Amino acid sequence: MPVLTRLIPSPVVVDIRAGALDNLAGLLHDQRISSSGKLAVAISGGSGAQLRERLAPALPGASWYEVGGGTLDDAVRLGDRMKKGRYDAVVGLGGGKIIDCAKYAAARIGLPLVAVATNLSHDGLCSPVATLDNDAGRGSYGVPNPIAVVIDLDIIREAPSRYVRSGIGDAISNISAVADWELAHRERGEDIDGLAAAMARQAGEAVLRHPGGVGDDAFLQVLAEGLVLTGISMSVAGDSRPASGACHEINHAFDLLFPRRAASHGEQCGLGAAFAMHLRGAHQESALMVEVLRRHGLPVLPGDIGFTDDEFVSVVAYAPQTRPGRYTILEHLDLSTDQIRDAYADYAQTISR
Ligand SMILES: [Zn+2]
Repeated sequence: MPVLTRLIPSPVVVDIRAGALDNLAGLLHDQRISSSGKLAVAISGGSGAQLRERLAPALPGASWYEVGGGTLDDAVRLGDRMKKGRYDAVVGLGGGKIIDCAKYAAARIGLPLVAVATNLSHDGLCSPVATLDNDAGRGSYGVPNPIAVVIDLDIIREAPSRYVRSGIGDAISNISAVADWELAHRERGEDIDGLAAAMARQAGEAVLRHPGGVGDDAFLQVLAEGLVLTGISMSVAGDSRPASGACHEINHAFDLLFPRRAASHGEQCGLGAAFAMHLRGAHQESALMVEVLRRHGLPVLPGDIGFTDDEFVSVVAYAPQTRPGRYTILEHLDLSTDQIRDAYADYAQTISR
């Protein structure tokens, strides 16, 4: 018998709206994620205190755990501390670092994770990957997808706009990542998953073409949904392929070559995507990306985030080494440093016209 359908690993609940946080306790109970109310909540020491004060009365059975930082050691320690209680679930309440730590800790102790995002800095809030700093720099660790995702737009609006803007760059970069995947399919016969590609690309296109900005809820709704769908597209594909191509190799190279000066994930991915689209000859798409990134106050030239043109050339030259085995426009063109310099000059000139 042919396979007529497939199951997609995805959250049981996705609740994205203004005021969503007010219903967190009810949602956990109604969905039987936690009928006893015994929850381990991971939260940041600083900005988390206010949220804790607000939510604690509604979650009387919760134990609160301050997360030290965003390292693998922090995540292991968090899991060890939570292991001693008998909880129904782990709730990660905070930005990307907190959720990544909570994801890893929950996976280690075999509990489901509820992700409550307080900013939209990248597409990791609903992905099967935890990104954590380790001795070698930064690693990606496979974990189960969150069982529920809650994003309260009232909280997002309060987040520093730089973090929200970062998510725009990450979402838009999907378009370049999917183009890299298609290239690898054409040139290398790499398997492409049409559903995962469609989800990631549509998320990127919706953010790219939305006329609003970080100040309005309609835009934040589309951005939050786009980032959640992108995370699920990675579960469908079984790896980060739908959301990570040359754009992310360039981002990783910035992080590795200039760890102290690196900008945010989405800032670097957006810039990387615009340049990668130019490299693949998609000049119209590249120009639209540049226009939109600029409108949102995101960088389109290395100088916008404090890097020289030569430093950017060295970043692009190093980028393929950050993700061995991933075939993108960078591996396809296999440019020398001089050729990268020329291509960059052409990009810079094209977008200044
Ligand atoms: Zn990303």
